[in-house]
Amino acid sequence: MKSVAIRPRKLLLWDIDGTLLHTGEAGKIALCRAMDKLHGGKSDFQGIEIGGQTDKWIAEQLLGREGKPNGPEEITRFLDVYVECLAEELPRRDGGLHLGVLGILEEAHQRTELVQALLTGNIEIGARLKLTRYGVNHFFEFGAFSDDSSIRNELGPYARRRARERHGEEFPPERIFVIGDTPHDVACARAIGARAIAVATGSFTEQQLRDCGADAVFSDLAHPEAFFQLLDL
Ligand SMILES: [Mg+2]
Repeated sequence: MKSVAIRPRKLLLWDIDGTLLHTGEAGKIALCRAMDKLHGGKSDFQGIEIGGQTDKWIAEQLLGREGKPNGPEEITRFLDVYVECLAEELPRRDGGLHLGVLGILEEAHQRTELVQALLTGNIEIGARLKLTRYGVNHFFEFGAFSDDSSIRNELGPYARRRARERHGEEFPPERIFVIGDTPHDVACARAIGARAIAVATGSFTEQQLRDCGADAVFSDLAHPEAFFQLLDL
């Protein structure tokens, strides 16, 4: 009998904001509106760097900065209001997918040796709203979200475990690629020993992403051949 070599599969873990898409500030505005709805006043992010952080962490910081209770119940309530605001804000803002993203997602989806999932600081319902708005939700059956932990570096193992449960095989770190736009994404990859692919379509430059130790840095995802070559396919 002829033996058929089966190539081991690889797991791509995608960040959302700044990597796959931008919401035209809908996410930020929804967070501020949630704060204003619950506690009045006019909120901003002064003193809080939200890029690459988790929604739970941001909620905790925003509430804490205003001297409001910021335990698990208050955070859940805050995020419920945030999701309502996000659903309203997304269609009002001029967001979209970043250059080349759709082509790469489609090609990766076709390749049986690749599994795609999310590794994001969004809570899942917020993530799904954003992805649905820009027509790419169906590429992601599962992922790890802020629902799992407020600490971004703790999210990787959740994604990895779900990949194993769904696909019946272990994905060792050298076959996991985390794709993101901030040093937090790079750190998140490191935390599970995975490869970090950084893309400078968010608020960090290629140099900054290189300096924080990304394995590869792209200015954008407009060149699928370079991306897939990197995955050694
Ligand atoms: Mg991001």
